[in-house]
Amino acid sequence: MRPFDYTRAADPAGAVALAARPDAKYLAGGTNLVDLMKLGVETPDLLVDVIRLLPGGIEESAGGMRIGAGARNSDVAADPRVRERYPVLSQALLAGASGQLRNAATVGGNLLQRTRCRYFQDVTKPCNKREPGTGCPAVAGAHRDLGILGTSEHCVATHPSDMAVPLAAFDATVRVVSPDGARDIPLVEFHRLPGDEPQRDTVLGAGELIVAVDLPALPLAALSRYRKVRERASFAFALVSVAAALEVADGRVVDVRIAFGGLAHRPWRATVAEDLLRGEVAGPESFVAAADAELAAARPLRDNAYKVDLARAALVQTLEELAA
Ligand SMILES: Cc1cc2nc3c(=O)[nH]c(=O)nc-3n(C[C@H](O)[C@H](O)[C@H](O)COP(=O)(O)OP(=O)(O)OC[C@H]3O[C@@H](n4cnc5c(N)ncnc54)[C@H](O)[C@@H]3O)c2cc1C
Ligand code: SF4
Repeated sequence: MRPFDYTRAADPAGAVALAARPDAKYLAGGTNLVDLMKLGVETPDLLVDVIRLLPGGIEESAGGMRIGAGARNSDVAADPRVRERYPVLSQALLAGASGQLRNAATVGGNLLQRTRCRYFQDVTKPCNKREPGTGCPAVAGAHRDLGILGTSEHCVATHPSDMAVPLAAFDATVRVVSPDGARDIPLVEFHRLPGDEPQRDTVLGAGELIVAVDLPALPLAALSRYRKVRERASFAFALVSVAAALEVADGRVVDVRIAFGGLAHRPWRATVAEDLLRGEVAGPESFVAAADAELAAARPLRDNAYKVDLARAALVQTLEELAA
């Protein structure tokens, strides 16, 4: 691994000042960053350790919940308030990584984990995300696991976080401390589509530090579910995942929230499907029609068209279970 300097900040403002330089990175649980440093993909000259200064608890806030960016994935998944009010978040976290990793991984680090595209992780290969302008070998190469929605000719990578999928479905916001103060970013606007700048995963600016994630008060979220489809039952990233909640009265959809994972460079909020479903009969026909309407925007590559069928099936099955 390339040599680097290591420091700790006393408070968020101090951390932001230290990390404003372009060769600095924050270190939280280290479960993604340190792996990428060992591979030579990330090469910071300075690590600013923030694990001791980030809030690690969950607080009640305006009827919703504020989850500290330093909260460990395992603690959030086990919290009784999360399990009762946002079961989908607990299920998504428990579907990710392993027990040991979840004990170390933080909420802030989870949102900023980087794509698992094999070319991105291999420094002997070109990759626009790792080295802008070198090309995207995945488009004609190994893209079976990669994106079908919102892709560009410059990058077809997917965002790997399970946790981010329910956060997108349920209007979470990300609280960030910046050099100029603090700001709140809706989760659905936090991660970017690749466009012609795939090196930028998110809208964060230099040195910005995530300090919390806010979940709104949303009774519907208590009726929620996460479904993850993957190559094996544990320790694997999603080929497709769905976070959804459904409220039905007199056989018709009153309200619904849907987001997909594993399909795009960011968690994919399925607003087309949601809009189509409200007021419709809560049954297989409208569920299939809504899935098809959302997935009409898919642009699959040679080897990942199966994801369209898989996403449709995962959504329809999840909605049927929720309706029952
Ligand atoms: C074998 C393996 C399997 C996995 N499987 C899954 C899976 O199935 N699903 C899934 O969702 N995840 C999976 N993961 C990923 C895991 O969830 C992430 O590695 C973890 O969540 C990252 O959190 P961390 O605190 O360790 O982040 P770190 O590795 O410390 O940091 C990650 C990135 O975030 C930045 N960062 C960290 N905290 C902040 C902050 N507060 N503000 C600004 N920047 C910050 C760092 O600079 C770095 O760029 C897996 C990981 C491994 C190693
Ligand atoms: S899909 Fe994105 S991350 Fe993968 S090789 Fe292409 S540019 Fe790199």
